[in-house]
Amino acid sequence: MAQAERRDFEGRKAFVTGGGAGIGRAIALHLAEAGAKVAVIDLDGGAASGVLKEIRAAGGDGIAIEADVSQEAAVDQAVVDAAEALGGLDVLVNNAGIVIIKRFAETTLDDWDRTFGVNLRSMFLTCRAMLPHLRDSTAGAIVNIASMAALRYTVPHLPYAAAKAGVVSFTRDLAFELGGEGIRVNAVAPGPTATAMMGRLTDDEVDSAGLRFVLSRMGRPEDVAEAVAFLASDRASYITGATLPVTGGAELASRPLRSEDG
Ligand code: NAP
Repeated sequence: MAQAERRDFEGRKAFVTGGGAGIGRAIALHLAEAGAKVAVIDLDGGAASGVLKEIRAAGGDGIAIEADVSQEAAVDQAVVDAAEALGGLDVLVNNAGIVIIKRFAETTLDDWDRTFGVNLRSMFLTCRAMLPHLRDSTAGAIVNIASMAALRYTVPHLPYAAAKAGVVSFTRDLAFELGGEGIRVNAVAPGPTATAMMGRLTDDEVDSAGLRFVLSRMGRPEDVAEAVAFLASDRASYITGATLPVTGGAELASRPLRSEDG
């Protein structure tokens, strides 16, 4: 990678939710490596601090904040603390998410509310709290993490699929509203990616969902981080309102009728 590309975020400050593990950790490390100071936000404060340690060990800097992104007061305080510690905020990555795998008939209202709280309500809260900082920035950009589940059926997790479809329309409409102010809003829709979240799916569930990796492997957190970094950078300065699938082509394929056609 050219040095200039690797320092895309020099002087910029990023706020990454769910940054303590999995895809969020990879995003935080990638942005830090490219020059950003990173506020690592996670429900698990110890995990957020661990990622900040990794960032510092690699020569970067930032702040670790324990917060539940579905809670208004916690998000507002996290944004105040991050902006004060880093001297403003330019990039918001809404990555925190949870999934509950259950058939509709077993799904409770609490499952629905928790899923929407962490995956979608959180985006309203973070975007609202960050807006003044993004307006002050000359490089304001938001990247939301949706899912392939917004694009097609995968496994039984109806509230998750509905919330992630909400992320896609949230992204589009916010992009429309903020574009005139120079703030870009995009989403990435990962396919199955090797993290603890994916560990909650058994091989049978993956198989019965008909998931086939056109590119012959499951996604890695770094695959998603690369796409997020691109969309958050000036290299994507003419892209807004988009949802970019990072799925290895998994959403393109349906299960072959005969195994010999697979
Ligand atoms: P993960 O490994 O479970 O990591 C998620 C991180 O978010 C964890 O550190 C978790 O903390 C944190 N978190 C959960 N609830 C939170 C809350 N209320 N407030 C703050 N932080 C919270 O998941 P992942 O696979 O990296 O997923 C990241 C994003 O990618 C999610 O939006 C997910 O829906 C999306 N995605 C993942 C896949 C996949 O296959 N992995 C596919 C499509 C989309 P705790 O560990 O303390 O709960």
